[in-house]
Amino acid sequence: MRLFRNSICHVWLISVVVAGLAGPILAQDENSATAASDEKISALIVDGQNNHGIWPKTTKMMKHYLEESGRFQVAVATTNPKGTDPDFKPDFSKYSVVISNFGYGAAPWPDETKRAFVEYMKDGGGLVIVHAADNSFPEWPEFNEMIGLGGWGGRNEKSGPYVYYDKDGQEIRDESAGPGGNHGPQHEFSVVIRDTDHPVTKGLPSEFLHSKDELYQQLRGPALNMKILATSFADPKFRGTGRHEPMAMSIDYGKGRVFHTPMGHADYSCECVGFITLFQRGTEWAATGNVTIPIPEDFPTADQSRSRPYTEMTNLAADELNNRIKEMIGMLEGEITADTLANLAGQDQFESLKESDEEKLERMIEAFRTIKAPALIEVLKSLDVSKAEFKENMATFDIQPRTVRFQKVDGVWYLQN
Ligand SMILES: [Zn+2]
Repeated sequence: MRLFRNSICHVWLISVVVAGLAGPILAQDENSATAASDEKISALIVDGQNNHGIWPKTTKMMKHYLEESGRFQVAVATTNPKGTDPDFKPDFSKYSVVISNFGYGAAPWPDETKRAFVEYMKDGGGLVIVHAADNSFPEWPEFNEMIGLGGWGGRNEKSGPYVYYDKDGQEIRDESAGPGGNHGPQHEFSVVIRDTDHPVTKGLPSEFLHSKDELYQQLRGPALNMKILATSFADPKFRGTGRHEPMAMSIDYGKGRVFHTPMGHADYSCECVGFITLFQRGTEWAATGNVTIPIPEDFPTADQSRSRPYTEMTNLAADELNNRIKEMIGMLEGEITADTLANLAGQDQFESLKESDEEKLERMIEAFRTIKAPALIEVLKSLDVSKAEFKENMATFDIQPRTVRFQKVDGVWYLQN
């Protein structure tokens, strides 16, 4: 969508609509309307069978993290809960990247789907493997090649070497016999960047403290064309191997790219800003070969983990929100009166407007007049409402070129910077 640029600060306009005009009119900020980013990357999350019962929530979280970056539009394809699902046939070719949230014990995909996926990857597709997704499909050789390393499901020396870093920073490939995959009790642990030139890790601090998670160790697999981007020390205090285990890997498969992180056991593990950042950037890289998503300011430090609490979306479905915004556009195409605003105020999603006293209402009318209805209508039309989310205390609008968030505190919506 094209945005007009010089006239209006979108953030302020939407804050008028959603938050009510509680304060003075803000100065226009032209810098807030930088060039719109390129077309969105289309991504597909596949899920449906995972020994981690939290998976429906972590799928939503991953979808949210990708969309929040402003780079992706995300679809989800879910299999039946048990057994091979004969109807699971996503059209992979429609997507630049596929993210797996399957887990241990997931039933094989139908042969036709497996073939289509291998072809998609060889042709230059993208794949992202998170946590127990590397437990899945031990009997599928091409899949094992794509993911580089895997665990459980009978994986052993026949699957490939153990791969890790030793205390001198050497990558070791160990062919000795033994099962693939285990972990000790969950804990916070440090993640050390080993490849500082890879697009996914470039510019990250050399080390960060990851939120509580399972530290996967002794994964094994073909590990062909695999680069280890980051490792974590598996401390014997937590039944660890005493080795530096891979925590982020990139794998080339045919013309395709794979990003693999064994992190992400639980919702609280995925809330780690380090995880979110690696996941967003790894997915962008798997899709395009480049990374444009910046490293956020709240990135964890070597000593301090940082989490962003995730609240599930509660209120409006996208189509209902869509209808409401259309209604608003309809109202605003007429003359702006106190009635118009009273009508807007009647919509319970815009709660703070209800609280408008007369003086506030007058100020709002003045503001609407000043900015002129047609401009406001343009902004509302430019809202891609499928990308708007209402949570209990948070409203997020993905308005090119940035995401705008409002937070509700004591019943009033505030613009969140
Ligand atoms: Zn787990």
